[in-house]
Amino acid sequence: MPDVIALGELLIDFVPTVTGVNLIEAPAFKKAPGGAPANVAAGLAKLGVPSGFMGQVGDDAFGHFLAQTLAEVGVDVSALRFSSEARTALAFVSLRADGERDFLFYRHPSADMLYHPDDVDQAYIRGARAFHYGSISLIGEPARSATLKAAETAREAGLLLSYDPNLRLALWPDAAAARRGILTGWPLAQVIKVSEEELRFLAQTDDLRQAARKLWHQELRLLVITQGRAGCRYITPSAEGQVPAFSVQAVDTTGAGDGFVAGLLKGLLQYPQADWDASSLQRICRYANAVGAITTTGRGAIPSLPTAAQVEGFLQQHQEQAADD
Ligand code: ADP
Repeated sequence: MPDVIALGELLIDFVPTVTGVNLIEAPAFKKAPGGAPANVAAGLAKLGVPSGFMGQVGDDAFGHFLAQTLAEVGVDVSALRFSSEARTALAFVSLRADGERDFLFYRHPSADMLYHPDDVDQAYIRGARAFHYGSISLIGEPARSATLKAAETAREAGLLLSYDPNLRLALWPDAAAARRGILTGWPLAQVIKVSEEELRFLAQTDDLRQAARKLWHQELRLLVITQGRAGCRYITPSAEGQVPAFSVQAVDTTGAGDGFVAGLLKGLLQYPQADWDASSLQRICRYANAVGAITTTGRGAIPSLPTAAQVEGFLQQHQEQAADD
């Protein structure tokens, strides 16, 4: 039985074989496994935390490739469904020369969007300790109801609920619908990880402290704001702090946020909630920052996510460097 279950989209990212071009200019594409919740499950498995993935891909070559990729890194895919109604989602993603991403989605609809409440294995969820979900599966029905049913099951069973409201504006009808839709997943979670940009967008204010206050809710125990190469900031009802990032040569930031969440959940599960104080959160966020930093040093998400041994080695090396300075 997995300790952590991640639910959501699992898709193929088609990435240009050359960098710094837009999708019109790209000469060829390489397939890479994608989907934020799936990356989190993969990240946890690589860090030695038993994880499982729930969702749906097409009963096609790409769907089976994705299942195989997750299984190879140790994710339990026994609850993954294969649809004969729709194909595996595709996203063509290019990092342009100006640093912006160019996206083109094939989801008309894709198998993940047809994930249905009846597909949710509640017994599987009840056996875990934590449940992680994102916002892409909240965009439309029936996946939206399936996500909320799974989250509600997790809540009733006393699991830790973790939410990463990944903002993909292009997938929503408009910005207001995105804000409303993303916020439907918000009140259920005890742990939320957002980027600065996402928090500003959701709270509609530039002041991060004010934004956190505005969106705080009763169930929330920990809000973590990721800040790229600046690290992260954590806020709990009784503590708040900033944890600097590690200095690395980043080549591709894809999956950094998902690796960060995997590191964060691994750390949080090692402490009872009553012990989430400033000193344990500093340590946990430092670990999550290390996972995020290492993920940026390689291409693609899943191949770059580190193992527990790699993170230990990285932390030791950086401790020695700090001592030498
Ligand atoms: P997201 O926007 O998906 O949350 P971020 O880009 O903020 O992701 O990255 C998540 C975490 O990964 C950061 O909080 C940081 O710890 C680490 N990270 C990301 N980019 C870098 C970088 N260039 N150098 C070092 N660490 C990084």
